[in-house]
Amino acid sequence: MTPKTYYIWTLGFQMNAAASEKLARELESRGLRPAGKLDQADYVVLNTCSVRAAAEAKTYGKLGELKELKRRRPEITIAVGGCMVGADHSDLARRAPYVDEFFRPIQFDRFLERVERGAAQPLPLVRPGGPVRIDLAPELKDTPFQAAIGEGCVEEPGSLARPNRPTRWVSIIHGCNRACTYCIVPLRRGREASRPIADLVDEVRGLVADGAREVTLLGQIVDRYGRDLPGRPDLSDLFDALGEIDGLWRIRFLTSHPADMTDRIVDGIAGNPKVMEHVNVPVQHGDDDMLRRMKRGYTVERYLNLIERLRGGIPGVALSTDIIVGMCGESEAEFQRTLDLLERVRFDVVHVAMYSPRPGTRAADWADDVPPTVKRERLHAVERVQERVATEINAVLLGETVEVLVEARRKGRWEGRTRTNKLVFFDHDENWLGRLARVRVAKTSPWSLQGEAVDESPLSLNNRRGLPFPAGA
Ligand code: SAM
Ligand code: SF4
Repeated sequence: MTPKTYYIWTLGFQMNAAASEKLARELESRGLRPAGKLDQADYVVLNTCSVRAAAEAKTYGKLGELKELKRRRPEITIAVGGCMVGADHSDLARRAPYVDEFFRPIQFDRFLERVERGAAQPLPLVRPGGPVRIDLAPELKDTPFQAAIGEGCVEEPGSLARPNRPTRWVSIIHGCNRACTYCIVPLRRGREASRPIADLVDEVRGLVADGAREVTLLGQIVDRYGRDLPGRPDLSDLFDALGEIDGLWRIRFLTSHPADMTDRIVDGIAGNPKVMEHVNVPVQHGDDDMLRRMKRGYTVERYLNLIERLRGGIPGVALSTDIIVGMCGESEAEFQRTLDLLERVRFDVVHVAMYSPRPGTRAADWADDVPPTVKRERLHAVERVQERVATEINAVLLGETVEVLVEARRKGRWEGRTRTNKLVFFDHDENWLGRLARVRVAKTSPWSLQGEAVDESPLSLNNRRGLPFPAGA
């Protein structure tokens, strides 16, 4: 029997991509295979995002295409999941009656049951850790700013589709208990729920056995991890538990809320050599009144104290942040204070977004009164400041030797990241995938570094379990 095929289209943040990866594994363990193209699949899944209106608009565009596909091939199953599917998705169901199944973020059990029912005979079980193919929305693939940072709204295109990736994502806490006035996440993803440490250790052990060398622990507020668990473990306890796993070399984590970053977590980052020196702490704005309107729960001064604690406690730490420009009533003077903050802190990376009103949020009741052209100008102003700052920060690395975990081969070059999450490219004839190269930096830009491999880090030299060469590399 020819195996049934699936195609997952994913929009949004890493947590969505991590969920898609998990769903793909579930489907593959039920005998399904990835389809080469969306219109060839038996099961099509849209994993949606609603953080900004533009993401929702893209999903409606995709749904339009699927309507036509369903007309031509009525036997296919279409499922829509992720952030756009709230507790009440009747409106969405009315707009797209040809969708067979809706599922809320990560709640794909019912969809999996349908897949099992759809199999006329028992499905052949394939290796659960096998190849996973997930395509990200093509419209979002080639944004150099995002591709370079690898942690913003979208992941770069190929990494999810590549089997045997040395770097994986693991969601450790779902939902969010805060209520930032602009944000739809708590409405769509519900209350916080942390996964027990033992489950996470099991999952990460499995990933390491499948070739992972690095995991990124994901959560809307990753530094609130564990508060809802018995005994209230925190992120540093999780670092300790994962740190014991042989063969796991690197641990990253995203995203930290400034008001939840405790000294214990800072010490946990500094004290565990497997935890990378990179913290993403979204500030969102540089003006106290705006932060109050956003209901962020800190002031600029408190944020700056945190930056001092991070820089004092974690030698060489790289910092990144998120900024929203043009939210309701943002005056020129208020916006200027965001630019001032960027000049003062000098982040390694800044992800900037224009405010987009989201139905159901507090801010949706306020006038969206900053004109689109002004929002765009402010976005560009942030990008200009950041480009200069990042150029200066990265230039300091010229001639230095950095340790790079090699993640992929792209356009004939090896690609990986430093401990501080800087993207590095180098040329070499050997297969470096999944190895730690020591690279001497020969060229820097605001978004990436280039250099030559000097040698291999002892850690990976002594642990050669060579990942297979990536298909198509
Ligand atoms: N939990 C994280 C935090 O506290 O900052 C951020 C998670 S949110 C899903 C990711 C980013 O999307 C935010 O940092 C914010 O910059 C952006 N974002 C959220 N809502 C937005 C909106 N309505 N308009 C524009 N950007 C938005
Ligand atoms: Fe949204 Fe605020 Fe929760 Fe982050 S902390 S997910 S911005 S509500």
